[in-house]
Amino acid sequence: MSELEHVLENPSVYGKKLGEFTTQCPFCGGPLHVVEIEYEIPVIGKTLIVSKKCSKCGYKRNDVVPLAGKEHLRVYFKVEEPEDFDVKVVRSPTARVVIPELGLELDPGIDAEMFVTNIEGILQLFLDALHRLRVLEPEADISAIENTIRQILEKRRGGFTVVLDDENGLSTFYSETRNLLVLSERTG
Ligand SMILES: [Zn+2]
Repeated sequence: MSELEHVLENPSVYGKKLGEFTTQCPFCGGPLHVVEIEYEIPVIGKTLIVSKKCSKCGYKRNDVVPLAGKEHLRVYFKVEEPEDFDVKVVRSPTARVVIPELGLELDPGIDAEMFVTNIEGILQLFLDALHRLRVLEPEADISAIENTIRQILEKRRGGFTVVLDDENGLSTFYSETRNLLVLSERTG
């Protein structure tokens, strides 16, 4: 379970609960339980997490809203050493993930949620996306890039950059154990 999931499961332990109420579920009309939590995400700072859960149909959604001013940010992390694969990645629903050296690019999902993973998890995300592409377009030749990613994961071989391009400036890299060189760039 990721750190953010822990926060969402135990809001009062990790974050400050700001409000809690019940409204109507947009899908089944059942009781939708809404909790608003103020939570400090490393590097990004204070955010508001709005967590919704329907007890009737099971609909669940977590939205993260920055409490600080939002601005378009592009953050870069160069993966070099094997331990860089453990660096944490906070990816917001509005972030595009790009690995220029491998020609990989992943657009934000339509219904994506905020989540915390690591560099390894990001590469896994690309493998999953390629797998979906293979199902949708069996003709697409993706075995070369798939093999490249698998080898990188297996050998923890660095030499590429992960870019998080986020119009809400909510995505970042961090480590609890070491200082990282993370470059960020404001755009537009
Ligand atoms: Zn429902």
